[in-house]
Amino acid sequence: MLSNLAARDVETLIHPYTNLATHRETGPLVLERGEGVFVFDTDGRPYIEGMAGLWCTALGYSNGELVEAARAQMARLPFTHLFSGRSHDPGIELAETLKELMPVPTSKIFFTSSGSEANDTQVKLAWYFNNALGRPEKKKIIARQRGYHGVTVASASMTGLAGNHADWDLPLPGFLHTACPHHYRYAEAGETEEAFSQRLADELEAMILREGPETVAAFIAEPVMGAGGAITPPAGYFAAIQAVLARYDVRFIADEVICGFGRCGTWFGGQALGMRPDTISFAKALTSGYVPLGGVSVDEPLYEAMLDQSRKLGSFGHGTTYSGHPVACAVALKTIEIFRREGIVAGVAAKAPHFQARLAKLAEHPIVGEARGIGLIGGLEIVADKASRRQYDPKAGVAARCVAFAQGEGLIVRFLAGDRVAVCPPLVIAPDEIDALFDRLTRALDRTRDWIAA
Ligand code: PLP
Repeated sequence: MLSNLAARDVETLIHPYTNLATHRETGPLVLERGEGVFVFDTDGRPYIEGMAGLWCTALGYSNGELVEAARAQMARLPFTHLFSGRSHDPGIELAETLKELMPVPTSKIFFTSSGSEANDTQVKLAWYFNNALGRPEKKKIIARQRGYHGVTVASASMTGLAGNHADWDLPLPGFLHTACPHHYRYAEAGETEEAFSQRLADELEAMILREGPETVAAFIAEPVMGAGGAITPPAGYFAAIQAVLARYDVRFIADEVICGFGRCGTWFGGQALGMRPDTISFAKALTSGYVPLGGVSVDEPLYEAMLDQSRKLGSFGHGTTYSGHPVACAVALKTIEIFRREGIVAGVAAKAPHFQARLAKLAEHPIVGEARGIGLIGGLEIVADKASRRQYDPKAGVAARCVAFAQGEGLIVRFLAGDRVAVCPPLVIAPDEIDALFDRLTRALDRTRDWIAA
């Protein structure tokens, strides 16, 4: 029997990424409030938010300073835009702050409202850049199988998951996918991480040569693949990939939508993993998820091309009403101020060994094939047989069941396609809360094992 709110939800709401058929039966988990790393449902039941919402509430819930930053900006100037030469002080200050923080040469910042829009913008800018340079044939984009870059038409074309392509007539032509760097799942028997990385780089090179380097504009990668399975890259991966990209003048876009702002114990995930991209997409933790904001870094050569095009064509014809919304910028500035004042990034680095040790221990569980991660992000791969790494029939929905059991234990985690479970708590999680999270997850795995056996 669904509660009143749940019944009204089922009658009125279409939920993203939800099995709408089962949702009619089960209804939603309606959350009412949050505090620290906990969220509470409408019956007052607490859950550890082990996914930081959707990989975003870095500073946890109920942060009064973020709320006050939003309130003050709303009271002062709730809206103005950045079109046609209009500007606002939180936008200017945030662009300056981000320029300082960016680990890549950055001339300017372009704001969006989401990660998908940031990655869509990256595609358009890569195309625009090559048009400006008089090489309009250099337009193809290479992404990776299992990568996740969003759901707009171009970002979903880069996403490398079947569910984002089947029945959506995607990917668009000119979007290609190279191999997923998941050593546990795709390495050959006895292949070292370094050899696997080199093989993948060789495969990327072969793809670029097959397509013609003069047709390939950009390559996009997340530091840690999030929605594709919380997959950390194998040793030597980005060094090998970057050598190929440099040989063929292919622009490297780092999708830092999840890993940006501390997740891996560094300001940007790429800094922990040896990435040297040309440009960065960011969103999520920039505002700790309190209000929507994303963006991309623009390097000097691209900016020069944009200036030239503006002289020739008139205005730079891209942007949305809410790009760089002043309330979002004010909250982002406050988020970064708190990060700096409280040493949030160093705090993640300090807590990471404990988090990763508890995560690694789960690999001993009879239904866990691999437990992997970095910083405060991790993933589990559930398997039917540890030795052969065989997975359960996807129709059995084992990871989904594990996530439901976790919810019963008072823990929110996320299941991902391929029987994977992701963990990505707020960065402010305390050591005893890390223990509580993994204790609850262990109990959920035990209950999943018993359910399989029954
Ligand atoms: N890129 C990555 C790595 C993501 O994880 C996501 C969302 O989870 C996106 C892009 C898309 O961001 P949004 O949902 O804000 O459009």
